[in-house]
Amino acid sequence: MAMAEIGATVQGGCNRQALTDLDRAGRDLLTRWAEAAGCQVRTDCVGNLFVRRAGTEDSLPVVMTGSHLDTQPTGGKFDGVYGVLAGLEVLESLRDAGVSTQHPIEVVVWCNEEGCRFPMAMMGSAVWSGRLPLASAYALTDRAGLSVRDALEHWGVSTDVAVSRQAVRAALEVHIEQGPVLEQRAKTIGVVTGVQHMSRHEVVIEGQEAHAGPTPMEMRRDPVRVLADVLPALYASARERGPDARLTIGLIEASPGSPNTVPGRLRFTVDVRHPELRQYGSLRFDLERLVRSALSNHGLRGDVTCVWEAPGVTFDDGCIAAVRVATKELGYEFMDMVSGAGHDSCNLAAVVPTAMIFVPCAGGLSHNEAEDALPSDLEAGANVLLHALVSLAGGAP
Ligand SMILES: [Zn+2]
Repeated sequence: MAMAEIGATVQGGCNRQALTDLDRAGRDLLTRWAEAAGCQVRTDCVGNLFVRRAGTEDSLPVVMTGSHLDTQPTGGKFDGVYGVLAGLEVLESLRDAGVSTQHPIEVVVWCNEEGCRFPMAMMGSAVWSGRLPLASAYALTDRAGLSVRDALEHWGVSTDVAVSRQAVRAALEVHIEQGPVLEQRAKTIGVVTGVQHMSRHEVVIEGQEAHAGPTPMEMRRDPVRVLADVLPALYASARERGPDARLTIGLIEASPGSPNTVPGRLRFTVDVRHPELRQYGSLRFDLERLVRSALSNHGLRGDVTCVWEAPGVTFDDGCIAAVRVATKELGYEFMDMVSGAGHDSCNLAAVVPTAMIFVPCAGGLSHNEAEDALPSDLEAGANVLLHALVSLAGGAP
C-alpha cells in the first residue's frame, strides 16, 4: 500500500510508468527497504534493478525472483508490484528466521515490463536474456521523443557498458493471475507450467459470383461450401486436443455481401492457441489440411496465411516441481495452469530454468485501477515463493 501511494490515481489505482520520476521514487523506496534488510542493490545498464541477499557459498549461481514496478497509465496496485514485494518479503522473512541459503537470492525489478510509455513490453528482461539488442532498447522513444537511453542517463545509470547476465540456477515469478479462473474455481495457487503458443491465420477462398435463383446448386462455385466443410472438422480437431485448446473464428466476410448473390470470395480468420507445442502444431496442421482438402473437394482456389505468431513457453520441470511441492506442503488449494498473458518470465525461460506462481485477483480484473487481491491469497503466494526459493537455493536453518 505504501508503494501504491507513489503515482496513486484518484480511482485507487497507480500510474507509475517506466523510467519516470515516479518509477524512480518507487525504486528508491524499495531500495531503502532492501538495504534495511541487509541486502545489496545494483542497477544494470538497461535499468534492471537487482536486490541481492548473499548465500553461504556466494559464488554459486543465483536463485532469482522478481517482476516489475512500472504500471499502465491506469494500472492497479498489484500487477508486477506484488511479485517484487513478495520477493523482498521472502528475503526479510529469511533474515527474521535466521535462515541462510547456499546460493545467493536476487529479487529483480525488470525495467519497462508494461511497454506503454516506451513501446516494447518486457524490455529489460528481453535485453538481459539476449533476445533484444541493447541498442534497440536504447533507441525506443516515448511520445515526447525522449529515448530510453536519455531517460536512463537522466537517472544517472551508466549506459556505456554491456548487460552482463549472471549465472542463474532457477528463476520464479509470483504474479496475480490477471484472469478469472482461480477465483471461479476457488483455488488459491496457480502452478504455472508455461505460456501458450498462439497464432492468427487468414483464409481466403475464391469462388464465382452468380445469381441465387437461376444457378443450380451443383453448378455454383460457392466459397461458403468450403467454410461449411472446414468448421465442424476444425472444432472437432480442437476438441480432440483437450480443454486447453483455443480456436476462435473471429471474422467471416463474404463478398460482395448480397443476400441474393452467391459470394465470389470468402475471407475468415482463425486464432489458434495451445500450451503444448505438439498439440498446437497439429491443430495448425489440421487447419491447413482441412482447408486444402475442402478446396479440392469443391474445385475452388484459396489459401491459408499465418499473419501473426507468438511462440509459447514451457517452464522448467524442476522449477514447476519446486512450486508444486511447496504448495502441497503448505496445504493450499491449487491447480496447474498456463498463462494467457506475456510476462518477464517468458524471456527468462529462454535462457534459465523458470516457472511462475499465480494467485487470484478480484473478478479477474487487471490493467485496471480497480485491480484487487485478498491479503490471504497474497500471503499464500508469498509463502509458496518462500518455500520454493529456499528449496532451490539450498536453505538450512
Ligand atoms: Zn505484470
